[in-house]
Formats: sequence, C-alpha cells, structure tokens
Amino acid sequence: MSARIIGHEDIVRELAALAASEEPPHALLFAGPDGTGRAALAIEYALRLNCERLNPPTTAGASLWGADSSLLPPPSSPGPCGECRPCRLILEGTHPDIIALGPGDTLCRPRDGESHAKHPDSRDIRICQVRGMIDLVARYPFEARHRVIVIDPADRFGHEAAHTVLKTLEEPPGHTVFCLVTAAPEALLETIVSRCRRIEVRPVPRARIEAGLVERGFDPDLAARAAEASRGRPGRAIEFVRHPDMMGDRGRLLERCARVAAGPLRERFSYARDLADRWRSDRHAILAELDAWEAFWEERLRQGVGGGQGTVALAGCVEALRAITTARADLQANVMARPAFELMLLAFPRVTLALSPEEESAAYA
Ligand SMILES: [Zn+2]
Ligand SMILES: [Zn+2]
Repeated sequence: MSARIIGHEDIVRELAALAASEEPPHALLFAGPDGTGRAALAIEYALRLNCERLNPPTTAGASLWGADSSLLPPPSSPGPCGECRPCRLILEGTHPDIIALGPGDTLCRPRDGESHAKHPDSRDIRICQVRGMIDLVARYPFEARHRVIVIDPADRFGHEAAHTVLKTLEEPPGHTVFCLVTAAPEALLETIVSRCRRIEVRPVPRARIEAGLVERGFDPDLAARAAEASRGRPGRAIEFVRHPDMMGDRGRLLERCARVAAGPLRERFSYARDLADRWRSDRHAILAELDAWEAFWEERLRQGVGGGQGTVALAGCVEALRAITTARADLQANVMARPAFELMLLAFPRVTLALSPEEESAAYA
C-alpha cells in the first residue's frame, strides 16, 4: 500500500482500479473536510495514471485488468514507482501537465483586448481562469499520458465559471482528468456533481494517523499529541508535527471559544478585530484557533445529536462549521482578514452554556 497517504487504504485501492481500467473516469470529486488528504488522493490518482512503470508503453491504450473494472488489483499490487520521470515531477510539484487550479491568478486569461487586473487575492476561481483552463485542455498534454487538473476548492466558482466548467465536463477531452476537491459538495452545481465519480474522504482513525507519523520518523510523543489534536485529519497532523506551536494550548483556546460564543455581539466584533491583528504576525496561532473553533462546534453537534444539555440547533452548528471552512479558504486566498473573521463570527449561533467556560473546555479533554 502506498505510504504517501496516511489511511484511506480503501480509496487508494479504488483509485488504483480506476486508473488501471479501460476508461479511467475523467472527473472525480473528492468530498470531505479540510486536511483529510483529498488533494493528496488526487495526486495519487495522477501518479497512478502517469507512472511509467505502472503504464508501460507496450500496453498503452490496453487495460491491465481487462474491461471488468470490478476486478480489483490485489492489495499487494505495486503502487506508483516514485522514481520514473512522471512520478518524480508530480511528487516535486513541477510536472507541466499536473495543474492545481484555485483562487488567484493561475491560468488567468483575459479576453483579447480586455484590460484586466491581476487578482492574486481573489476569493473565487474566476471565469478568466476557467477560460485559461479550457484553452489548455483543448491542446494535448506536453508529456503526460493523462493531464490532471486539481480544482481546489471546487466550491469557489462564480455562476458563469461554474456553467462553463459544466460544459467542459459534459464534453470531456480524452486526455484530461479533472479532480474536484471540496469540503462543501452541496455548494456545487448538482449537474457538476452528477458528472463526477464521487469519493467520500472521511476522517482517519487517530491510531492510524499516529502510526503514519511515527513511520515518517517523527518523535512518538509528538506524533501521539498531533494525531489527537488533528481530529482525524492527517494533513493537519503533519502541520502539527512540523509546527508543534500550532497545537497551542487547546484548553485555553476552547475556554475562549465558549466565552465568545456565549457572549454579546460586541464581544464578537472585538474578537474579530483581535484575530485580524494577530493574523498578520502569527498565522499558525490563528489557524490553531480556527481548529479549536471547529472542535467546539463539532462537540456541540455531537451533543445536539445526543440531545444533551445546552444544545444548539444542529443547523446552527453546521452553519458555523461551514463558516470556518469559508474563513480558512478566504484567508489562504489572502482576502482581507478582518471582514473574513467578522463574517465567520456573525455566522456562529449564540450558545447558552450549561457549564462555566472552564468546565466546558474540560468536557473536550
Ligand atoms: Zn513511476
Ligand atoms: Zn483573471
């Protein structure tokens, strides 16, 4: 099994079978929370499609497994070699045909004669970028067997851009595969979703993440703490072992979450200002704080399902979690920090605490 991915063995097996099938699907949708490994799985698919050792030239166009894609390769089947030219370029992130499309200037292509400002801090994937993408896919890949375009986050298309993407998915060019990555599949056009092979990327068990980190040579104690704090998200766990300060003082952060969530509106605004000020100097600490907020609302969601004391309407928790995802993506796209935090905090429902903030935070331990 591929050691590049922590957990998700079943998905890796599925991707292996798809890549080896007669007609690999040209559009995949990786749906799941941030940090669970969605983009890494898309890259795994790109490797499987393009590795020279898995796809020797003599069998080009023919399938290793025949027409029957239900004939899964055995679990011991070799993964991508990691050494051939396509593998190396893909793993380095320098393959000319493996393209990451997200908010910003990637593939931006203004119309002829149009004066068009660059937009590095756009929060959406714009129509000009989609135009650039369509231009690109009309041509053959430079060297790849299959060009792979990873669209992340795929829920950030404007109206016109979404419909243009849909047209492309309806008449897919044979040599290009689209991997859509999203935490909010319900925000995509249903007609886009229905064109994609959907892959649900779920949180990974804590023990599996811990083992994966230790395999990568990280200190076992640190690995255990990072796995715990990552709440099933290997990508987050890897950030944590690289920057242990990001884990922060979780108890203190959760206390603060409880206080803000139960407090008056003006406290939310001053908290948003504080987050925005600190965002400039200490991004890691703020990202850890957003993680704490996620833990806070996920815990509420569990309590709500269980009908425990001090519950908030489930829809409110879901809304809050979505607002955090949006804020994180906005911040990564370099959107103005203060409005991003304000929007997030205004989306949070007001909670009534059954316990004091200190007791609240102890409940997560
Ligand atoms: Zn290879
Ligand atoms: Zn543009």
